[in-house]
Amino acid sequence: MNPTEYQFTAEFAKKMDEDDPLAKFRDQFYFPKVNGKQAIYFCGNSLGLQPKTVKSYLDKELSNWENLAVDGHFHGEDAWYYARKKSKPALAEIVGAHTHEVVAMNNLSSNLHFLMVSFYQPTEKRNKILVEAGAFPSDQYMLETQVKFHGLDPESTIIELKPRAGEHNLRTEDILAKIHELGDSLAVVNMAGLQYYTGQLFDIKAITNAAHAVGAYAGFDLAHAAGNASLKLHDWDVDFATWCSYKYMNSGPGNISGIFVHERFAERPDLPRFAGWWGHDEGQRFLMEKGFIPMHGADGWQVANSNVLALAAHQASLDIFQEAGMEKLLAKSEKLTGYLEYLIQEISGKSGILEIITPKDPAERGCQLSLHIHRGGKAVFDEWYSQGVVGDWRNPNVIRLAPTPLYNSFMDVFSFGLILEQSLKKFA
Ligand SMILES: *Cc1c(COP(=O)(O)O)cnc(C)c1O
Repeated sequence: MNPTEYQFTAEFAKKMDEDDPLAKFRDQFYFPKVNGKQAIYFCGNSLGLQPKTVKSYLDKELSNWENLAVDGHFHGEDAWYYARKKSKPALAEIVGAHTHEVVAMNNLSSNLHFLMVSFYQPTEKRNKILVEAGAFPSDQYMLETQVKFHGLDPESTIIELKPRAGEHNLRTEDILAKIHELGDSLAVVNMAGLQYYTGQLFDIKAITNAAHAVGAYAGFDLAHAAGNASLKLHDWDVDFATWCSYKYMNSGPGNISGIFVHERFAERPDLPRFAGWWGHDEGQRFLMEKGFIPMHGADGWQVANSNVLALAAHQASLDIFQEAGMEKLLAKSEKLTGYLEYLIQEISGKSGILEIITPKDPAERGCQLSLHIHRGGKAVFDEWYSQGVVGDWRNPNVIRLAPTPLYNSFMDVFSFGLILEQSLKKFA
């Protein structure tokens, strides 16, 4: 949509909502209240809202546990033994993969470690890891301790890429040049897909190609990309990836993560891994014998038996994603975030109070906009919050706002515009 078509009027927002084929999904979520009023919830980047169906999905498993107890593992079509299978079609659609390339398991930080065990095999010559500077702390700790685990020095082994002076985002050309420069010293690129602080969506395909061209692996942390950006992990030839389900995937606080492992590794029992019985050949699992035989594909990276209650809440949300469809979600997302961007520019563009640091090109971002606060600091965030706007504050000076296409409306964005307009008077 052309920005010149946007308008800062209630009529415009209302019309956009009327024409929105996904508008009905808003009613399928619970919204929190702030100061007694339904919040303008722009924090799906941190914790997605609860689908109203979650309780019934959980209830079903609680009933199975109540009535079947241990027999629930093998009883009927909901047998817990096969619980991992149900989420595969939706996950495959969301990240652009084949079903055997994805599986829901563990939590994100744990999965990063498990995947690095397989894909980070440093040698004397090839041992460097490339990551964007300012990566999410968990990812930084993971890389630091992985490197130490192999007896190497994090300082010289982890290469952090910074934007050019005066810029907020990395240029793809600079990322590719760095990969080329590192050449056969580079073992693995392990970056965010979408950077949590700036909201920049990286060119995963180009980065993967460049990594492969120098003989390195390419893996991505998709915490902020899964369910929020167009992903084609299989076609882009990505080696491995992992994500969480509680941000854009609305599956509940701390809920289960998922992994992607490209199908070329589906039958690679030689790849190192830290294994557990749930990654072992399903047919032979209960023979209780020695000798780990990995399952085909991503399933072979499972460690522990499936967390059935976690999967139930996850499934409630995934079923909504399947009904809505990623393509429609992404089409709406571009318009909705474009509208937010337009209003911020219109209302506060000249005030000098804030600046959008997320890339302008919709192909380089998801729904999140990161606002650099130049004046007023966290008081700006507190003022908006007191008016019902739930975003989040990230030190040292960023407010993240993420209108999500599943449950946010154009009217939400318009209402925020009014609050922004009022608040500027306080911080002028
Ligand atoms: C949210 C987030 C995490 C959180 O990790 P958990 O293991 O789910 O606690 C890790 N990395 C990134 C990039 C994130 O955005």
